[in-house]
Amino acid sequence: MAVPKRRTSKKVKNQRRTHKKLHLPGLNECANCGEMVKPHHVCKACGHYDGREVIAK
Ligand SMILES: [Zn+2]
Repeated sequence: MAVPKRRTSKKVKNQRRTHKKLHLPGLNECANCGEMVKPHHVCKACGHYDGREVIAK
């Protein structure tokens, strides 16, 4: 049976499942007004999506 040659250091052990989120949830810039919008969501500021007005403001 395989046996670990060295004891896992405290540092390595503590780093095991503590990776910070590498990427923030994606945000795109609205093509119409430049507001930050979630991808595949209608822009809250101007109601535009995919280059056209979806919600009249
Ligand atoms: Zn917009």
